[in-house]
Amino acid sequence: MEVKCNLPDKWDFEADVVVVGYGGAGSVAAITAHDAGAKVLILEKAPLGQEGGNTRVAGQGWLNPFPIEQAITYFNAMCGEYTVPQDMVQAWAEEMNKNNAFIESLGAVIMETVYKNRHPAEFPELPGADCIHDYHIRTDDGSNGYSRLWETLKGAVNKRGIKVLCATPVKELIQNPATKEIFGVKAEHSGRKINIKANRAVVLTCGGFENNQEMVRDFCTNLPYCYPLGTPYNTGDGIKMAMAAGADLWHMSCIAGPVYCSLKVPEFPAILEIPALEPQARAVFPGGVIVVGADARRFADEKYRVTHGKSLINGRWAQTPTPCPLHMIFDQTIFNVGLYDSHRYHGWNPLLNVYTWSKDNSAELAKGWIKKANSIAELAQIIKLDPKVLQETVYRWNMNSAAGHDPDFGRTRMVAPIEGPPFYAMEVTPHFVNTQGGPRRNAKSQILQVNGEPLPRLYGAGELGSIHSYLYNSGGNIGECLAFGRISGRNAAAEKGWS
Ligand SMILES: Cc1cc2nc3c(=O)[nH]c(=O)nc-3n(C[C@H](O)[C@H](O)[C@H](O)COP(=O)(O)OP(=O)(O)OC[C@H]3O[C@@H](n4cnc5c(N)ncnc54)[C@H](O)[C@@H]3O)c2cc1C
Repeated sequence: MEVKCNLPDKWDFEADVVVVGYGGAGSVAAITAHDAGAKVLILEKAPLGQEGGNTRVAGQGWLNPFPIEQAITYFNAMCGEYTVPQDMVQAWAEEMNKNNAFIESLGAVIMETVYKNRHPAEFPELPGADCIHDYHIRTDDGSNGYSRLWETLKGAVNKRGIKVLCATPVKELIQNPATKEIFGVKAEHSGRKINIKANRAVVLTCGGFENNQEMVRDFCTNLPYCYPLGTPYNTGDGIKMAMAAGADLWHMSCIAGPVYCSLKVPEFPAILEIPALEPQARAVFPGGVIVVGADARRFADEKYRVTHGKSLINGRWAQTPTPCPLHMIFDQTIFNVGLYDSHRYHGWNPLLNVYTWSKDNSAELAKGWIKKANSIAELAQIIKLDPKVLQETVYRWNMNSAAGHDPDFGRTRMVAPIEGPPFYAMEVTPHFVNTQGGPRRNAKSQILQVNGEPLPRLYGAGELGSIHSYLYNSGGNIGECLAFGRISGRNAAAEKGWS
């Protein structure tokens, strides 16, 4: 084979299969390739102790849908007009169906997640919804536990002695420009540029673009900004690398979000959730609260039915509106009980932000995160909204909520007037759990060029180019990491070595 172009003089590391990104998809790809006989090396951007990506801090649930035919029907219904090739959907359904067996093969005991008072599917009205079965690692209290699935995957990687290089961001794919074949990657390690040879294949599993605000603006057009609940290291690197190698993209505007129950402050990479604004199915607090947009008017049911950021608007699931800047306007009762609750503090926060909210909110008032005023007009001036409009908005909300209804947006939870003085405001921001877009891939998990041909020796899995195109059912992302992690690991290990 003619292998001459662009190869470095020296390789610093070498493996059969090089996996880029040590989260759920990366660990599963690595385990599978290793078990198929390949020598595997994982390269991870985060420093040791911060690896694991979104997978580590996720809710830890995964889908294992069945029967397969119903799963195909439900998945296609979730895609709607945003169709996905049927061989890909078939591969998804068949492999997702083996997720439980895979996790059990790693020695874990699993249990099905029980949903009280609701159907396990996020869209029970869609055909095939009864296929939805969500699982997690067994815990004594039946909860999903923090990081339990991640610990299982990490344990399996360690047990196999698979080498992981942390603090090693991959920067570029090494490619033969004529054949498009991928031979390895360029990365940085300990301040040094290094070359890593992938004798059989590279698997990109380095997550989405949650932390890349420029990409958020480019691809998610009605979001001027949106911040993650998960790892700060997913900055779209894999998407740029794959594009540079000639990959096609898909599902770039599809995100698991936004919702606007969060506070983002510059000191912390991940957002801080505000319990009073948790969506409909969750917390209910006494006291008055609304959210207004740039025009000082309400724009939605603040306690809307959440489906990972999509709301039912005029009979169609659409991205929840976020006319930024968004301000939460609330009264003393909400101030006292609805701003912070350590039990609801999840995502990346307990791992890295480690912010301890003061018991009486005094620290947050002093920092200016919360604004306080003796009248709505004064509050409006502080947060730079039109005082007259904000007064009208609060007056209308108070009149309607005192009568127990919300004719404007049909809110049925926490329908209570904003009483005061004092009155409070906090700027809240849209947040997402993850993006879905990235390099287009096929049923073998090969990354595809714009002409539909695979980029030789390049695979992808996980939220980097996820199969989800429109609606998303919880457990779907980790389920996909497990399924396409295995498919990519299997096929990468089966490639013939090029040297
Ligand atoms: C709070 C939260 C709760 C969630 N709950 C669930 C749930 O219960 N069920 C579900 O299905 N989904 C859930 N999700 C979504 C799901 O967690 C993710 O979509 C999934 O874990 C992504 O896995 P991944 O392996 O593709 O990426 P990640 O797990 O994010 O891993 C990507 C890794 O790549 C690394 N990386 C990035 N760039 C580079 C680079 N240049 N070089 C090397 N490494 C790089 C990152 O540091 C990271 O470690 C949740 C997400 C969040 C944030």
